[in-house]
Amino acid sequence: MKITTVTPFILRMPLGRERFFSSQSAFPERNSLLVRIETDTGLIGWGEGGQWGPPEPVAMAIEAVLAPKILGKDPRQHGCLWELLYADTRDFGQKGTYIEAISAIDIALWDIHGQHLGVPVHELLGGAFRDSIHAYATGCYYRGEDVLDVETALPALAAEARSYVEAGFDLLKMKVGLLPIAQDLRRVAAVRQAIGPDVGLLVDANHAYHPATAVRIGHGLEELGVLWFEEPVPPEDRRGYRQVRESLSLAIAGGECEFTRYGFRDLFLSECVDIAQPDIAAAGGFSEWQKIYALASSFNIPVIPHVWGSGVALAAALHVLAATPPFPYTAHPVALENEPVIEFDRNPNALRDELLRRPIQLAEGRVPVPKGPGLGIEIDEEVLVRYSVA
Ligand code: CA
Repeated sequence: MKITTVTPFILRMPLGRERFFSSQSAFPERNSLLVRIETDTGLIGWGEGGQWGPPEPVAMAIEAVLAPKILGKDPRQHGCLWELLYADTRDFGQKGTYIEAISAIDIALWDIHGQHLGVPVHELLGGAFRDSIHAYATGCYYRGEDVLDVETALPALAAEARSYVEAGFDLLKMKVGLLPIAQDLRRVAAVRQAIGPDVGLLVDANHAYHPATAVRIGHGLEELGVLWFEEPVPPEDRRGYRQVRESLSLAIAGGECEFTRYGFRDLFLSECVDIAQPDIAAAGGFSEWQKIYALASSFNIPVIPHVWGSGVALAAALHVLAATPPFPYTAHPVALENEPVIEFDRNPNALRDELLRRPIQLAEGRVPVPKGPGLGIEIDEEVLVRYSVA
């Protein structure tokens, strides 16, 4: 079997008045970088690269640099091709764009390999511990006409949080970091009050703080029963991560801005995180996820992937979560404590909800793992064209 074409697609969906904000940026649109790899057997694989950054540089890295290196190669050799692409771009591409591009290609190659063998990707990864994944809702961003006005925002924020519980979630992740910490703690308290004491609450700062501020808000989060504090400090600040982690009793999560086994090695050796969050579509695809997972498990650190983007990235994450062993094994595994959870973004995104012919949907708080060969997904070409940028 030979690779015949490698085609990147840039997808864009403007949000208009549905735009939302994190501590770092506005989201006026949703975008995704997809890659389609065709073979001489007629099998076609899909991959996704990057999480929310601009898709154009990733598309260019694929088109101009990486695609020519794999044309004519056997897609089943994804482990060899990963090393080839990484070695050829190492000098300038150890993090960021090139790894996102390699991630997209790697996911598509595994999709092809699974289809060729007639088995889902999770079977190639060693088999499924579970056929559906406990989901947590990612929502409660900063929304509305004036995102800096906490008073006006609180009722809508509480209503949004309640809507997730009504939809069947018993775990929810919300944002902090855009407002002064006293105001952000009021937001977290409002969400806690809205969802009650029994729904798990996770908080994500998108690296808005220096260590002392992170510890200060962290003590407030502890009092509100928050289970994990995600990206408290910038990803480069390993010392700060350690300082925050040593000062707080809640779990520190991070890693969505980290890449490859090398980046995660440094995160683990520096004792930065209790929970590692590689993004399959950014940190290196399935091939590199296996290595990151192996490293993490040797440190007894759970891996709960960061998930953003289209239905392709979501399907990829479901396959790795199906193949993730309990951490650690117990006779009665509990979600988050011993069992992995899937990040289920609830912000508006047609690329997640409409791109797949069989959309991936929540059922009783869980998301089913695709069963078909490869990624087990089928792209709706009409939707692909509708959102594709020429
Ligand atoms: Ca995050």
